[in-house]
Amino acid sequence: MEKSLSKWTQLSVTSNEVKIIEKAFSSYRTKTCIRFVPRIDEQDYLNIVKGYGCYSQVGRTGGKQEISLGRGCLFHEIIVHELMHSVGFWHEHSRADRDDHIKIVWENILPGMKSQFDKISAALQDLQGESYDYRSIMHYDSTAFSRNGKNTIETVEDGFTEVIGSATDLSQMDVVKINKLYQCRPRKKEKMIVGGTSLPTASVTTRIVTPSPTTNSGGESRFIAKFLDTESSRIIFHS
Ligand SMILES: [Zn+2]
Repeated sequence: MEKSLSKWTQLSVTSNEVKIIEKAFSSYRTKTCIRFVPRIDEQDYLNIVKGYGCYSQVGRTGGKQEISLGRGCLFHEIIVHELMHSVGFWHEHSRADRDDHIKIVWENILPGMKSQFDKISAALQDLQGESYDYRSIMHYDSTAFSRNGKNTIETVEDGFTEVIGSATDLSQMDVVKINKLYQCRPRKKEKMIVGGTSLPTASVTTRIVTPSPTTNSGGESRFIAKFLDTESSRIIFHS
C-alpha cells in the first residue's frame, strides 16, 4: 500500500485514507461554518489517531484532544459522526426526551454495553429547541450492541426502526443544529445547493486544524482552534 505523509498527519496513512478523511471535512465545510484546517500553533486541537476503535470526546476539552479512527472506522459516515462528537454533540438516542421517540429493548443488549444507551441530562445535552431526529448521523441503528441480532432500539413512530442509524452524512437537522450552536451566519443572500437541499453558506467562525508535519513531533494529526467548551470530558466509544 502506498504510504504518504500528508498535510494532516505525521502518521503513515494511505492517500486513499486521507481522501476519505478530507471528504468528511468537506461535509462540514459545505454545510456548516466549521472548517477543519491544519494546525499552526493552537493550544487546543483535535488529534486524529488510529487507536482501538472509533471514539471521540464531546466538545472541546482543552489541549490535545484525541479522536480515534482505528480499524473499521475509515468510512465517511463514521468519520462525520465522530467529528460531530468533537464539535459538541451527543448521540441523538441519548436525548432526555428519547423515550417519547424510541424504545430501548434492554434484554437484547450485549452484557456490559447498557451504558451505550444512557440518557444524557437535558442540562448537558443542548437540544437547541429542535425536535427528535430519526435521520441524524448521531443515531445508533436498530441492532446496535445487540447480543442476539434482535433490535436494541425500536422507534415509537412506525416505519422508522429501519431508518435510524442509516444516515450516510449529516442530516438536514444535524446541519441546522450545528449552525445554531456555532451561530453560523448565512453569507449575504447566497445559497448553496447541497445534496438537493438549499442551505445557507456561512462565515468562518470555527477553525479545526491539524499540526504541520514540519513543526510538530509525535504523530499529532488534527486540530481544533476554536470549538465549543463542554461541561463533560466523557469519551464516547463505539464498538
Ligand atoms: Zn458516537
